[in-house]
Amino acid sequence: STESDNSIFKLENNFGAHHYTRINLVIRRAEGCWLTDDKGNKYLDCLAAYSAANPGHHHPTITNALINALTGNYASVISNVVFTDPLGIFLSECASFAPQLGPRFGAHGNKVLAKNGGVESVETSIKAMRYYGFKQKGIEDGKQEIIVFDRNFHGRTLSVVSFSSNKKYREGFGPLTPGFVSVPFGDLDAVEKAVTPNTCGILVEPLQGEGGMIIPPRGFLKGLRALADEKDLFLVCDEIQVGLGRAGKRFCFEHESIVPDGLILGKALSGGLVPLSVFMTNAEIMDMIFSKGSDGSTFGGYPLACVAGIAALKVFQEEKLDEQSAQKGARLKKRIEDIGKRSPYVKEVRGLGLFIGIEVKDNNAMEFCRKLMKEGVVVNDSHGHTIRISPPLVINDEEMDFMVERLERVLVP
Ligand code: PLP
Repeated sequence: STESDNSIFKLENNFGAHHYTRINLVIRRAEGCWLTDDKGNKYLDCLAAYSAANPGHHHPTITNALINALTGNYASVISNVVFTDPLGIFLSECASFAPQLGPRFGAHGNKVLAKNGGVESVETSIKAMRYYGFKQKGIEDGKQEIIVFDRNFHGRTLSVVSFSSNKKYREGFGPLTPGFVSVPFGDLDAVEKAVTPNTCGILVEPLQGEGGMIIPPRGFLKGLRALADEKDLFLVCDEIQVGLGRAGKRFCFEHESIVPDGLILGKALSGGLVPLSVFMTNAEIMDMIFSKGSDGSTFGGYPLACVAGIAALKVFQEEKLDEQSAQKGARLKKRIEDIGKRSPYVKEVRGLGLFIGIEVKDNNAMEFCRKLMKEGVVVNDSHGHTIRISPPLVINDEEMDFMVERLERVLVP
């Protein structure tokens, strides 16, 4: 099987773009919280595909829904010209899964625009914020500005990398998309100072995942909400990574008892089995922004993705994934904090729910990740300085014991 590994590595190396640094591991099976490699070694997955696998890999309810759709012949791409059952059902369930978004616009319910990868829904939200500024606020088209945050991560399309703080994501890809103003994450004064008559919206991750597992100061989201109300700015939360239970609540914005005007979900929305993301907002606003012909996508909201989405929302509610995350996260964080106190390498442990970061002193988080991999735990670093602990939310006590024991081995000499 070494030969076959080599050939897999070679195939990727020879025929793929080299845009990812991969660990030399070939995973052949994924089930629940466990990954199995080509040699039969098992690893506890403490990354969960950056939250996509929140309900556990190959959750039987979601997997069976997909199999039934495929064998029932209603799963394929059906022309966007006609109606299909799964899309309508998914949209209605998704709309009622969130609280009334943009309540300042009235109790009209929510509407949902479905896409594939997360970044596509980020792009949809940018269109929505800009159109809101143009139509609702009378900003001259082309002059709209959106406030974003330093160290944001919202994906890799050209407009989205245009406002990334990471040079590597932007360099050489110009001309970049204008109209974004980036300010320090967590700094309300900076946000207020950045507002101009052309500001139409604010795009924020309630917790920064890729940016280093950063939790903003308490009151930050509340402050953004107040500012957005005062200045009539369209506030969008990107909960692709930290929503859907990851941080111990259905939505991360609930931690500050606010409701945004727009919401972006992805990753775990389909249980991680097929690409599915959405932009959602108040029904009145969605109808104002998107009219026939103003947007579209061949695969956005295609039947197979919607079948997975319906099943994943069902699993979320039946298994109360948000409550599981809150309870287990609190216990796990305590145990990791205890390790942190005894470790010469750990600077800080922070987290909400099962979104826990272990910041190390020497910006060498990946070294610890590699050691953990050898101990049978798959983790990754965030921003070089933080070990990211974000297992599937269904992780059980025994699995948590396994993780804590391995962390102890690696972090306490
Ligand atoms: N937004 C956030 C907060 C993310 O964490 C990610 C992916 O990690 C994205 C957007 C982009 O999603 P995708 O990679 O599915 O395009």
